Amino acid sequence: MSAFVGKYADELIKNAKYIATPGKGILAADESTGTIGKRLSSINVENIEANRQALRELLFTAPDALQYLSGVILFEETLYQKTSDGKPFVEVLQENNVIPGIKVDKGVVELAGTNGETTTQGFDSLGARCQQYYKAGARFAKWRAVLKIGPTEPSELSIQQNAQGLARYAIICQENGLVPIVEPEILTDGAHDIAKCAAVTETVLAAVYKALNEQHVLLEGTLLKPNMVTPGSDSPKVPPEVIAEYTVQALRRTVPAAVPGVVFLSGGQSEEEATLNLNAMNKLEVLKPWTLSFSFGRALQQSTLKTWGGKKENVAKAQEAFLARCKANSDATLGKYVGGSGSGLTSESLYVKNYKY
Ligand code: 13P
Repeated sequence: MSAFVGKYADELIKNAKYIATPGKGILAADESTGTIGKRLSSINVENIEANRQALRELLFTAPDALQYLSGVILFEETLYQKTSDGKPFVEVLQENNVIPGIKVDKGVVELAGTNGETTTQGFDSLGARCQQYYKAGARFAKWRAVLKIGPTEPSELSIQQNAQGLARYAIICQENGLVPIVEPEILTDGAHDIAKCAAVTETVLAAVYKALNEQHVLLEGTLLKPNMVTPGSDSPKVPPEVIAEYTVQALRRTVPAAVPGVVFLSGGQSEEEATLNLNAMNKLEVLKPWTLSFSFGRALQQSTLKTWGGKKENVAKAQEAFLARCKANSDATLGKYVGGSGSGLTSESLYVKNYKY
């Protein structure tokens, strides 16, 4: 089974490798209009385009923050937005050596006959959309598949459907010049222990890489965005060192060395928790053939959002909070984070049951 080598192969490999540069990571700012609405309503800000633009401008223009990022994932609306001075966001990112990315999935729908398991939508005109996004400056994409742990979940049907879907999405991206971020998110919902999460993560990742190989995806031109291996949300927490051991072990057993980078989602962990866990993984002294970095949404934005509160006079303070999280996570990719950066806001749990993005 050899990989497809289309006209973009060299570019895909170069961009995937760049995004996985140690010391840098991804800001997931691709919340759909509905999801960003929930964030804005938590600070009593109306979900209108001007406010969505203002939040994204605050993030992308935060002084000194972009040096810690190699990519930013955008929602379609944001890809075409500008700063209040009229500069396209895409240019702001490019000038700071940050690669613009784009969410291309269209959310999840229930798989009939399952207990609430899902498959991801978005294949309609996916190739054409990838072409348009490439023209607009995007060089990587994201597609979120969601699995859950339950008495009989994830079912074989959900594992296979989601693995096939991710592989089909990945090859369409590669045919059109976008590095696919492959995201099989196993939700933390439940009372299971960490060993159960590890077993499910290994099963799911093994199925995903089998499907990627079968569909001739060029692994060197992809990135993996997995959940960290943790106990369920209704079980007692365990220290970062334990999460690190289980997570890195699951990855070592299933993720080929050809993949340049693993960029974790934060999945409802607090900002501080997510950073400490990433740091512990990078401190582990075992062979890790890929970069271990971040592609956090909530865990990069929560304290910034709260500090901003939708008020112009708070923008500078909010940008400082964002810089602190970017720097902390950059340090964590190098195993050099000492903890405690930022205010008390960074310890707040961001868990949402059955999370929709
Ligand atoms: P969280 O880090 O908030 O889980 O989101 C990351 C993401 O992009 C989910 O698809």
